[in-house]
Amino acid sequence: MTTTLLTGGRLLDADGSRHGWILLEGDRIAATGLKGRDAPPPAATTIDLAGRTLTPGFIDLHGHGGGGAAYDNGPDEIRQALATHRAHGTTRSVISLVANPLDDVVASLGVVAALSESDPTVVGAHLEGPFLAIGRRGAHSPEFLREPDEATVATLLEAGDGCIRQVTIAPELPGAVDAVRQFVAAGVVVAIGHTEADEYLARAAFEAGATLVTHIFNAMPGIHHRDPGPIVAGFDDDTVTLELVLDGVHVHPSVAQMIFRAAPHRVALVTDAMAAAGGQDGYYQLGSLNVTVQNGLAVLNGTQTIAGSTLTQDVALRTAVTVAGIDEARAVEALTRTPACVLGRDDEWGSLAAGFAADVVVLDDAWRTERVWANGVVVGG
Ligand SMILES: [Zn+2]
Repeated sequence: MTTTLLTGGRLLDADGSRHGWILLEGDRIAATGLKGRDAPPPAATTIDLAGRTLTPGFIDLHGHGGGGAAYDNGPDEIRQALATHRAHGTTRSVISLVANPLDDVVASLGVVAALSESDPTVVGAHLEGPFLAIGRRGAHSPEFLREPDEATVATLLEAGDGCIRQVTIAPELPGAVDAVRQFVAAGVVVAIGHTEADEYLARAAFEAGATLVTHIFNAMPGIHHRDPGPIVAGFDDDTVTLELVLDGVHVHPSVAQMIFRAAPHRVALVTDAMAAAGGQDGYYQLGSLNVTVQNGLAVLNGTQTIAGSTLTQDVALRTAVTVAGIDEARAVEALTRTPACVLGRDDEWGSLAAGFAADVVVLDDAWRTERVWANGVVVGG
């Protein structure tokens, strides 16, 4: 099996920072060592990182596309979008599907199921809809939203054939709490989001097994001192992870800092990226809706409604550290170990340690991605 030694770098993961080397062998990290203590082993290829920072590959729990392509539009566009995110350090991606006619969602699930089989960096699907609140729908078509019922949930689970990793549900919808239980019983991570839920409804969803909040603060009631809402319920529950879109627009950097303080080790930085991520300003589609992107900000045509982001995860990391003032190990954790925990894969993804997947990102001292290995394969930079 081919071996690559990355030496002379600064290793940075959720456990902190140290200078040392890392040996990749096939799709695994075979060994790591500390500078001055552990002699690096011989390898087929040796790369001197010259002081650059090495982090685990980023894991995106929530994205819709990139590089001009959208995840709802079939396998070729999914591959095109993934290539863009790979070049920006994302080595494992959950494929988010927006609310669409049920037959279209079923067809998309078939595509994602097949891709998840053939490509280990595709980590199944996230159904963002159709069980969302009309009044908090964001960039989801109102005509495709519906209330959850046992038969529809069963249809989706069957179409997913085991590939549905996540679903976002508004817990106030009739039948929602039962749907939470039904999805959780099938091994799906349930998120609350696109919701009007108050604190009590949010807690009821967590009691029923929901363990994630979809892009916290966005598409849900904010915090009021007499009405804490779903956000404080999420802060309070140690079993719950909070998705955060940290692009400087979706949530103010000071609020981002508050979220990291309120929920230590429970923040997952996601992109919620649409097709323009890593691409150009212009006109795009998100599901069936038209979106305009100007200066990197995506809004539904003719409105102020934010329609996903144009974020890549390396930019989220840079924003976390340089704008929001998050400690670098905690910021990296939010892109690596924490999302790995959400997916139940933190024993193989998200750490620079022997036995973990060969998912590594090389960053320059301005947090720009230079090189990426995903599952042992050079994919970007
Ligand atoms: Zn989304």
